[in-house]
Amino acid sequence: MCPPPTQNGTNGTNGHAKPRAAAAAPYQTVQDFLSNTNNFKIIESTLREGEQFANAYFDTATKIKIATALSDFGVEYIELTSPAASPQSMEDLKAICGLGLKAKILTHVRCNMEDARLAIECGVDGVDVVIGTSSFLREHSHGKDMAYIQKSAIEVINYIKSKGIEVRFSSEDSFRSDLVDLLSLYKAVDAIGVNRVGVADTVGCATPRQVFDLVRTLRGVVSCDIETHFHNDTGCAIANAHAALEAGATHIDTSVLGIGERNGITPLGGLLARMIVGSHDYVTSRYKLAKLKEIEDMVAEAVEINVPFNNPITGFCAFTHKAGIHAKAILNEPSTYEIINPADFGMSRYIHFASRLTGWNAIKSRVEQLGLTMTDDQVKTLTSKIKQMADIRPLAIDDTDSIIRSFHLDLQA
Ligand SMILES: [Zn+2]
Repeated sequence: MCPPPTQNGTNGTNGHAKPRAAAAAPYQTVQDFLSNTNNFKIIESTLREGEQFANAYFDTATKIKIATALSDFGVEYIELTSPAASPQSMEDLKAICGLGLKAKILTHVRCNMEDARLAIECGVDGVDVVIGTSSFLREHSHGKDMAYIQKSAIEVINYIKSKGIEVRFSSEDSFRSDLVDLLSLYKAVDAIGVNRVGVADTVGCATPRQVFDLVRTLRGVVSCDIETHFHNDTGCAIANAHAALEAGATHIDTSVLGIGERNGITPLGGLLARMIVGSHDYVTSRYKLAKLKEIEDMVAEAVEINVPFNNPITGFCAFTHKAGIHAKAILNEPSTYEIINPADFGMSRYIHFASRLTGWNAIKSRVEQLGLTMTDDQVKTLTSKIKQMADIRPLAIDDTDSIIRSFHLDLQA
């Protein structure tokens, strides 16, 4: 019974009356000198991790459209599928590298010389190298021991660096890897000048506290940047990304709507919803937030899904206020029940008035929107009529508007 989500629409009231700074203090996250919640970069992986989503099939034109939109939105990096995956993947990577986008173009390859050579041939700005380090992956996937992993990592990183290209080295399934193995591997690649090391919760098992502990420990071991990658199997992907930044991570992997392997990773929109609350100026200065809905709709259409009702920011009811007491406060001062100003994302709030939970302030606001005039006492009588009707059956907006209009006609008669 809510209207569809609107962008730059006219529902509800205007933006938050007071500047956010006045209300910002309670939202500040715990900060120390290693925290990067006010200074992070996004590695947007819709065209790599997102391609592993069950429904995803991106043709060249769609990849170009998505990459262009993401670059325009302001993400710092766009990661694409390995050119070793298929001949078309290689052609698409070359095509996107040739667009001259503002975002840096990365590809994600296995830790071997052949894959690294292919990536560089395509003209990428950076290569993301990955290898499994957990005992599960060492036994059941590639079968290599840690000494072999370290030797090949060093060879591949040195080669990529010799070509003047940015390189990241990531373990896979980091949270189920042996901590000592992991740290000595990261230390070795940091020593030869890798640009970033990556921590990946490939199976989605980590909790925010585990993430904080691992990233904070790693921060004390390496001097390079730290990238993090979180799967959402237990719904912790956004919280884990936030914990990683608090601990000193510098880069967060995202995908639009969180699409990826299984149920995906940290969603771009959800991460920015989380970050804007404590780092408003940083987020609004770097990203064209009003483009978020358009990008999400573009990707949702490409992979044939609907945007979930409870999606942060763009879910159809993300800024809908229903309970009477909420509506009253929201009409007076939106910050009362909103920590995010919808206007920052080019969205608008909606005061739900067509229900038995409504209050007379919400009805009064609707009466005014309809261009009608009533006294407060008259609005209160009208409100009780609407509540009586809403107790009998669900009310649509049109139903409620006709109750309001006929009440107004009776008043005039
Ligand atoms: Zn992943």
